[in-house]
Amino acid sequence: MALVNEHFLKLSNNYLFADIAKKVNAFKVSHPKSEVISLGIGDVTQPLCPAVIEAMHKAVDEMAVQATFRGYGPERGYDFLREAILKNDFLPRGIHLDPSEIFVNDGAKSDTGNIQEIVRWDNSIGVTDPIYPVYIDSNVMIGRAGIMENGKWSNVTYFPCTEENGFIPQLPDHRVDMIYLCYPNNPTGTVLPKEELRKWVNYALRNDAIIFYDAAYEAYIQDDDIPHSIYEIKGARKCAIEFHSYSKTAGFTGVRCGYTVIPKELKAVTLDGKERVELNHLWDRRQSTKFNGTSYISQRAAEAIYTPEGRQQTQATIDYYMGNAKLMHESLTKMGFKVFGGQNAPYLWVKTPDGESSWRFFEQLLYGASVVCTPGVGFGPSGEGYFRLTAFGERDNCKEAMRRIAEWIG
Ligand SMILES: *Cc1c(COP(=O)(O)O)cnc(C)c1O
Repeated sequence: MALVNEHFLKLSNNYLFADIAKKVNAFKVSHPKSEVISLGIGDVTQPLCPAVIEAMHKAVDEMAVQATFRGYGPERGYDFLREAILKNDFLPRGIHLDPSEIFVNDGAKSDTGNIQEIVRWDNSIGVTDPIYPVYIDSNVMIGRAGIMENGKWSNVTYFPCTEENGFIPQLPDHRVDMIYLCYPNNPTGTVLPKEELRKWVNYALRNDAIIFYDAAYEAYIQDDDIPHSIYEIKGARKCAIEFHSYSKTAGFTGVRCGYTVIPKELKAVTLDGKERVELNHLWDRRQSTKFNGTSYISQRAAEAIYTPEGRQQTQATIDYYMGNAKLMHESLTKMGFKVFGGQNAPYLWVKTPDGESSWRFFEQLLYGASVVCTPGVGFGPSGEGYFRLTAFGERDNCKEAMRRIAEWIG
């Protein structure tokens, strides 16, 4: 008899966005005339830029001709893209990486979810709270997170990020082997200053821990002194893996491409303590078994982002979203909401009025203004009492949503 992996049964069936969709549908049925505006889901709305489209067309044409047709590509990604990554994303920040330290992937979700396979199942883990659910759920599936008790996983250390601590996570007072950080943060839209990030790198070095650093929103950073990469911090190569994605940077949510950085210096120890093993090598071994590369067309599309036209065009879209964020930040603040984030990230993290629960406020906003937000508690216990709005919408929808909320608030 084949037995199931029972760790999967510990996961909640009610996926946050499915729950939201259900409630929104119920509203639509009872209010057929209302036009609902969603500021909820974290997907982009603006089309791919012309430089990317042109590169994709060209790549398709190459695939049509025997002389330029490509089959399986190199598992770590094509050299043209890895070179462009090194030259554009790292060298200008004084970070010298080798192409063999870059793994091109089909987006950051797969790698942030799969990376935990290359370390032992009984490592301890720690996450900022609230959090992108992939980090915890992927650890639940392998049995590392323990069981759910009172809204928390028993074997997970939570680092609360709330208004009280200025959304700056505090170091744990005990050893944690695997630490997930995401900056700029989804869902709070807040960032971590260099001196705070340095504390985490030093903690990891002291404790022989690994930091999994999700930099998916790095392109949205506006302030000069906020780190774009954890490798801007001395010593990070010995303790950190970094994830990048073109999804939010360049609208690649449907194209699929990103990359993961695993420096050669990063090592983890065997149980007997006798050997230190290169994680770059283990991930390479894992990928060559379970992953057959990102499509050539997607990689050519990603390369085009680094051309002068590509840079300028993707920046224009990022500016557009950040314009939405500014507009929403100002409008909501004027209405009396306490608004966080939205200055170096496309997310606004807003306190519910009068300490209302996240879900109750979600319903009030839906029924009062026909606007959809994401209840903060869906991202973890410290998200209770907050809601998330995304700036990925169309400008007119953002304006209309703000007008409706202002009218509803009165
Ligand atoms: C959107 C997002 C990603 C990117 O996922 P892809 O698989 O690259 O589309 C990664 N991390 C976080 C925190 C995100 O919000």
